[in-house]
Amino acid sequence: MQLELSPEMVARPLEPCEPVYRVVECACGRSVKKDGCNRLDCPTCRSHLSARRGSSVLDRLERRSSGAPICYTVFTFPESVRERFSVRSEFDAARKRAWWILLELGAAWAFCAVHPVGEDGQKFHPHLNFLWVPREGFRPFVDVEWLRAQWSVVIGVSVSVVYHAFSGKARKVAHWARYVSRTFPGWHWWTGPVRWYGHYPRITRKPCPCPKCGLYPRYIGTIPVSECRYWETEGFLLGIPPPWERESFGVREHAGHYQQE
Ligand SMILES: [Zn+2]
Ligand SMILES: [Zn+2]
Repeated sequence: MQLELSPEMVARPLEPCEPVYRVVECACGRSVKKDGCNRLDCPTCRSHLSARRGSSVLDRLERRSSGAPICYTVFTFPESVRERFSVRSEFDAARKRAWWILLELGAAWAFCAVHPVGEDGQKFHPHLNFLWVPREGFRPFVDVEWLRAQWSVVIGVSVSVVYHAFSGKARKVAHWARYVSRTFPGWHWWTGPVRWYGHYPRITRKPCPCPKCGLYPRYIGTIPVSECRYWETEGFLLGIPPPWERESFGVREHAGHYQQE
């Protein structure tokens, strides 16, 4: 049998994107909104992506039957087994078995995000974060000793650390949702996407019409932020219309246009 060597577990170099303005048009005219590349690995986009993911996770958690508590369970990997579980196939198998443990405790559905590092944000210290909703008739109190014993068997150690808490308070649940679903630029290649398990509520998102004119805004294109910045500092004073008002639009070959005038 060939030994599978784990990759060197460090964050990859970060590649920040240059933000852009997205331009849309409705009967009220054009409007712009700052945006980025939206890659989960991008440090520039990290804060807005984390916020967006946090609110969509919360949105779904809030559709549980009213009054049901949310459980928050964190499975950790002791240092002695981290190298073994740095291999994705091993890690994924353990993740699936963590969900099975929660099923036995009465989980109806769950959200799971992998965090690759500990509090220092540097050292490889993977842990599985589950936010889950108990099935009817199951209580959120769990036997943590039993939980730890089960997890120890999964990862092949004698002692393991599993953290468990629960709450029905909206503020607490919102905090957990945001904390757990934040992104880790430099690590996304290893952590992969977040996952949902069980019979979670489906959500269909529809685009929103403009609240003033009632039309669905039409997407026009993007402008690099640097171009808008130039307009804000100089073009504005020279009476040049803002870049998003131009007829032909929003592509990089026009980026130097105003500088030449
Ligand atoms: Zn970006
Ligand atoms: Zn409008």
